[in-house]
Amino acid sequence: MRQSLIMGNWKMNGTRESAKSLCTAIMAGLNADDKNIVICVPAVYLADLQTLTSNSPLALGAQNVANQASGAYTGEISASMLKEFDCKYALVGHSERRTYYGDTDASIAERFCQAQAQGVIPVLCIGETLAEREAGETFNVVNTQLDAVIAKAGIAAFANAVIAYEPVWAIGTGKVATDEQAQEVHKAIREKLAGLDATIAENMQILYGGSMKADNAKGLLAMPDIDGGLIGGASLDAQSFLAIYRSI
Ligand code: PEP
Repeated sequence: MRQSLIMGNWKMNGTRESAKSLCTAIMAGLNADDKNIVICVPAVYLADLQTLTSNSPLALGAQNVANQASGAYTGEISASMLKEFDCKYALVGHSERRTYYGDTDASIAERFCQAQAQGVIPVLCIGETLAEREAGETFNVVNTQLDAVIAKAGIAAFANAVIAYEPVWAIGTGKVATDEQAQEVHKAIREKLAGLDATIAENMQILYGGSMKADNAKGLLAMPDIDGGLIGGASLDAQSFLAIYRSI
């Protein structure tokens, strides 16, 4: 049985102090037996938050990971470095990385593999733009993005990975996909995986991301193939984030 997973993506927001306060406020709303709740934080705050979360059910994630193990790659942060700070997860291929920083399907596949090689669970973000949706290309786009990683990592690697379907037109825009629109794509993703490995497909956590808020989370999370959420804006407010978590 798949477990639900709620992840926050703080993006490039906050200060050292506000990061600690937000983390503390989220932890205050959790019980000892809560699980499957994660915050993906700016890397420079990982050390502080590692200390804060050390005895908490709240897990840490990174927003990106290098496509190389080590070496002359200025500005990058390797999976082994993330592991030192107890990062359980790392986002790979977030649409903001693809759009603003030129992350390609090929480099994303490398990042995915680097994370896994160090025991960091990659969260592969995929999704179509508005123009692609309107051109009827949603399934092609998502399949191509998935195929690039499957070709490099192999389908077996998806036993230790998470997929986040994030329609680009819904990220940070307030335009959430309808429950049915999201479910349709999640189902297609699972069916594609099932064509390669039925067990992996059945166990795969497929998160929805894109303007998920406390008031729309319940409907989305009730869909049979939506196993959780990747939440940007609403994860910057502890009560909103906790409300989404409680709506599982
Ligand atoms: C995201 O950054 O992955 C995201 C889904 O952002 P938002 O919730 O703000 O749309």
